Amino acid sequence: MDSLGIEKPTVEPKATENIEEMIDLIAQLIDKDMAYASQGDVYYRVNSFRDYGKLSGRRLEDMQAGARIEVNEQKTNPMDFTLWKASKPGEPSWPSPWGDGRPGWHIECSAMSKKYLGETFDIHGGGQDLIFPHHENELAQSEGANGHPFAATWIHHGFVTIKDEKMSKSLGNFLTIRDILQQYSPEELRFFVFSTHYRNPLDFSETAMQDAITGLDRLYTCVAAIASLPDGKNSASPQSNAGDRQKLKELRARFLQAMDNDFNTAQAQGILFEMTKALNALMAKLATPPSTEDIHFLRQGAEEVKELGQIMGLLSKDPTSYLRDKKTRLLAQRDIAEEDINKLIADRNQARKIKNWEKSDEIRDLLLQKGIVLKDSAQGTSWTVKQSAT
Ligand SMILES: [Zn+2]
Repeated sequence: MDSLGIEKPTVEPKATENIEEMIDLIAQLIDKDMAYASQGDVYYRVNSFRDYGKLSGRRLEDMQAGARIEVNEQKTNPMDFTLWKASKPGEPSWPSPWGDGRPGWHIECSAMSKKYLGETFDIHGGGQDLIFPHHENELAQSEGANGHPFAATWIHHGFVTIKDEKMSKSLGNFLTIRDILQQYSPEELRFFVFSTHYRNPLDFSETAMQDAITGLDRLYTCVAAIASLPDGKNSASPQSNAGDRQKLKELRARFLQAMDNDFNTAQAQGILFEMTKALNALMAKLATPPSTEDIHFLRQGAEEVKELGQIMGLLSKDPTSYLRDKKTRLLAQRDIAEEDINKLIADRNQARKIKNWEKSDEIRDLLLQKGIVLKDSAQGTSWTVKQSAT
């Protein structure tokens, strides 16, 4: 959790330490005739809650029609669910007014959320597989007992798939976060997770991870390039104009809109790319030396990219050291030293000077074979290390 930059919860309650609260809640439901004890078990009376099914969009009548007829004489309605279960000899159990037993699965969450968050709280999360019956039943218990709305907003996330197959131990395509972090950095993983809207299936693949890495690098590269620009000169004529300023303002607004729209992080990431694209375009046409106004604008733009990225827990590293560390890490996997690369680039520049294109290309290809990619620009030749194909 720490390595992924996930903040710790304030409380992590244990069900076994909150049995009393669960018993209280069950007793309240019995008092309201929304639950009944039957041979040591206690059941929730689904017919007593008018809105039963509202979260999952199901109707009680349909569910009853489709339900396998359970031979359970103890229940009034086959859809009634367990609040308290009598224990069999040898099973862990707690004393209760209905005899020794253990709480049902759903009541744990109703009791603990009430204790720590109150009767109504803002956001309830969970996987899509929990909507029914678990969350539906939590809601019926809590709203039934408290008479107040339960969660204001529900966030149900999609599943992780691997090459479009559901991740499962039996299929042998099971990956833990620890496994993934052997190969990728926590920030790369974070960027990948946010590249899909949380409701959709998140498909893990090497290609998707490479895309995430490329995307993250692109953002850091832009911010780093701006950080390395010299201070501007007042006398130089500015290349940026009111249109650029307006564009950046609009992109910022669109980013916030995307996040406000049910956390559309995929769209928000796309907007970060648009921002860096606009900043890169301006950097490409800077005067030498650049104008103070342009530098000011670019630095402000870079700050905004970082600030917005940090909403998703991204881009909080110093961009220059991020890229340097990354280069060192990648270079260590390659069969070439940095000084050899610089030497070959110098040789190539020499060849280019005397228009020996054949030799120039030869050196470029040689470096490429070793995973070193050259990029020529007005400022000279720079190089990057290709992410090794895995
Ligand atoms: Zn729960």
